[in-house]
Amino acid sequence: MPAGAVEGLCARERSELHMAEEELTLSCPRCGQAFKSAIQMDSATWAAIRMDLGLIERCPHCGWSSPFSKSDYFFEPSVTEF
Ligand SMILES: [Zn+2]
Repeated sequence: MPAGAVEGLCARERSELHMAEEELTLSCPRCGQAFKSAIQMDSATWAAIRMDLGLIERCPHCGWSSPFSKSDYFFEPSVTEF
C-alpha cells in the first residue's frame, strides 16, 4: 500500500473523531459518581487494545482508589461547558 493512502486514511479518521468526541469514563464503586478516566483514547483504539491488568484510578469525588478492569470503562460524549 502506498504511504500516501495510509496518511489520508488517518487524517480522515482524526477529523471524524474530533467531530464526535468521547471521554473514557468510570463509575466509582464507592460513591457511584461517574468520573473521567486518567487515560483518554478514542473508542476504536480502546476496542483494539488488550487490558489484562486492572488500572488503578482515583475518584475525584471521594478520593477512592481502586483497580478497574476494561469492562468497567465506558464512553461518554464529552460535555463542553461554556
Ligand atoms: Zn467516588
